[in-house]
Amino acid sequence: MKMSSTSCHANGTEYTDVIVIGNGPSAICLSYFLSGHRPYYNGLPHSNPYLHTKLQEIGQTQTIVDQDLDYLSEGLEGRTTNPVALLFDALVHPDADMGAEIPSLLDWKKEEEHAFRHIVLGRGKVGGAWQKMDGSMQTLSLGNWMELPSVPLKEWRDRKFREGESLDPCSNRATISDVRNYYMDYVANLDLQNHFYDHHTVTSIQKVYQVRNGMDLESGEVEPCCNDIAKNHTYLWEVRGYISSADQSFEDEEDVHRREFCIQAPHVVVATGTFDIPNTLNISGEFLPHVIHSLHDFESALKSWNEIPRSTDDPVLIVGAGLSAADAILMALNANLPVIHVFRRGANDSNLIFKKLPQGLYPEYHRIHSLMKGKVVDPLYRPYEKHRLVQIDEDKRVLLENTKGNDITTVDVTIAVILIGSRPNLSFLPEEGRSLGVDPQHPINSKNNTLDVDLFSYESVKHKGLFSMGPLVGDNFVRFGIGGALGVTNYLVKNRKKGNPCC
Ligand SMILES: Cc1cc2nc3c(=O)[nH]c(=O)nc-3n(C[C@H](O)[C@H](O)[C@H](O)COP(=O)(O)OP(=O)(O)OC[C@H]3O[C@@H](n4cnc5c(N)ncnc54)[C@H](O)[C@@H]3O)c2cc1C
Repeated sequence: MKMSSTSCHANGTEYTDVIVIGNGPSAICLSYFLSGHRPYYNGLPHSNPYLHTKLQEIGQTQTIVDQDLDYLSEGLEGRTTNPVALLFDALVHPDADMGAEIPSLLDWKKEEEHAFRHIVLGRGKVGGAWQKMDGSMQTLSLGNWMELPSVPLKEWRDRKFREGESLDPCSNRATISDVRNYYMDYVANLDLQNHFYDHHTVTSIQKVYQVRNGMDLESGEVEPCCNDIAKNHTYLWEVRGYISSADQSFEDEEDVHRREFCIQAPHVVVATGTFDIPNTLNISGEFLPHVIHSLHDFESALKSWNEIPRSTDDPVLIVGAGLSAADAILMALNANLPVIHVFRRGANDSNLIFKKLPQGLYPEYHRIHSLMKGKVVDPLYRPYEKHRLVQIDEDKRVLLENTKGNDITTVDVTIAVILIGSRPNLSFLPEEGRSLGVDPQHPINSKNNTLDVDLFSYESVKHKGLFSMGPLVGDNFVRFGIGGALGVTNYLVKNRKKGNPCC
């Protein structure tokens, strides 16, 4: 019999075992695990002799989820500092960083008796950040690095191609819309849909202590059962928020009539990513209507380009030297629009992301880098290296200053597109989650102040029952972010074996 995701209390509050906040790839992978899909070693060799020996010890009859992850992941190194993420990646993409395309070392079995009741709450549709990116752009990663357990992205793309959808199965890199559709299909085809509550925005999380008040027999007054409630009682996490209607776009979500929800659970996993709030320059004119802070908005602007009032030849101003800025330049040049590109670093700065991308795989980003350096010239593109945007006027004139501060240039532009990174929106956590961070003095970010979690269980070191995964704990690529699902499930399984309540 299928397990229902929640049960309902008499007061209307829903109850479940695990609430996952966010519905991107991290959450989807966790839902797959929590639905009772369990990984088993399939006997293929691994090039790391220590890991290989440990896998032989486990054999093919015990699931990886029940293992000691500290022991199994010991000594693994790679592009994240989270050992369980490295372990999961080593098992599903062996030697990927060396360019190998070796099949996964895991087989999956569905064992419903090991499932956990859970729900996944997401502000928009399933797919997380992939729902908000420009669909036609290619991904940064190789296709298979974005895939989820047991469904190779390549096989999915081949099938879609055969079914007549216009995908290019020969390209190593999928487009953003391929990945987005793959995630949506994954949830639908693996029967995870019942767990996913789309268009549910979480606005608060708080502890609710399970206190049984006593009645004073003489006075009839209700008295708390003890003085130190926090010490003597267990608690549930209460997650509150609102539901918005499915046909709304992200932009008008604020204005609609909202229905509220309240759900309680002993475990909450925060998988809300770090792309919700675009960074700003904090300069005069930054919020004028012709200023844009996301690729998604730039894509929409391009679609209605002819409606933008402008002088014919005024360029698009693009600020930033990351991949989103590069994507915006590509989009503008593809649309035959003149671009001026402003970035603070020198074009040869060794910290620029372009320096870290192999040329053969990312020719379009290398072209942008060559344009930035002046090695390639395009009459539509003009770089302003070592410059910053300091002012935007209502009449669309912008002021650029060189980083030495001794030269100002004015330019008339059509629109200004500022793409200088983003940060998470953790407004649903007390103090925006600062107290849960590695450095509580500063806001949470994915680079140097992540949420502080146990390396193996992903549980907050500050609060029991609160977990996090994905970029919020420093796993910035899908490949690593999904590994958190193994850590969280491993903890929940151990907890259940100990006979702890609610699981
Ligand atoms: C332009 C761009 C290109 C990228 N390219 C690649 C790439 O090529 N390869 C790669 O591996 N990674 C890439 N990434 C990173 C990748 O998107 C992330 O690693 C991945 O999406 C993280 O998954 P997640 O599930 O943890 O979070 P997300 O995908 O960010 O999903 C979290 C979701 O939670 C929602 N949410 C936030 N707050 C709430 C709330 N209060 N209530 C309900 N829901 C909420 C968010 O709106 C979001 O939809 C790229 C990112 C960007 C921005």
